[in-house]
Amino acid sequence: MGKVMPVVFFGHGNPMNALQTNVYTESWRQFAQSIPRPKAILVISAHRYIPGTAVTGSPFPKTIHDFRGFPPELYNVTYPAPGSPELAREVQKLLAPLRVSFDEHRGLDHESWSVLCHLFPEADIAVVQLSIDETMGSEFHYETGKLLQPLRDDGILIVGSGNLVHNLHAYAWGIENAQPFDWAVRFEQSARKFMVEGRYRELVSYRSMGNDAKLAVPTPDHFLPLLYILGLRRKNERVSFPVEGIKGGSLSMLSVRIG
Ligand code: ZN
Repeated sequence: MGKVMPVVFFGHGNPMNALQTNVYTESWRQFAQSIPRPKAILVISAHRYIPGTAVTGSPFPKTIHDFRGFPPELYNVTYPAPGSPELAREVQKLLAPLRVSFDEHRGLDHESWSVLCHLFPEADIAVVQLSIDETMGSEFHYETGKLLQPLRDDGILIVGSGNLVHNLHAYAWGIENAQPFDWAVRFEQSARKFMVEGRYRELVSYRSMGNDAKLAVPTPDHFLPLLYILGLRRKNERVSFPVEGIKGGSLSMLSVRIG
């Protein structure tokens, strides 16, 4: 058995990050350089928020441009990493008796490729995406994350891709350096404190964090990938935040690394 693979949550933000070099993409690149080369990658996907748990099973997942209104060059970006039907089957086994659909035709959504193109630009490591079941509560997602634990011993990198604070209604479009909203800062600070202190229950029941949580997490899709990652922390493992920042006032780019 080799070294235990760290797990990570990335605030992926705007898909244009795929084409840019900035403090976030730079930190993603550095993260990849600081870990053993993964055998394969499993991404818990904010944008695959569907009624049910599913894995991508295609050996050659296509690049999905799941957004509108961006410059043409973004639609030309492809991330031709192979898939891994073997890893997808392994995830099915680990999560049994939960029914996990094997999605042979689904490709990779932008929360995967817009980040992975900075981690592993060669696109030569297999990627599988796990969906988030929108019908289930946050406890389910935290517990499901725990079941993926053995993959860490097997050289698989597990990535949660979302945004800790994600309120696009409040987002200052075109003013990326807008002053962060008080509620966004407060929610992020509380969440960081809970993570460092290992108080994950408080994050699983984030709705009880009041009005700040309502504004920071108006819909759960971008928050829930974090709970999978927290569920994978082992005793005494360090939690660190490789990069931070709040864009447009209401979009947290915080990364969370465990191990
Ligand atoms: Zn997103």
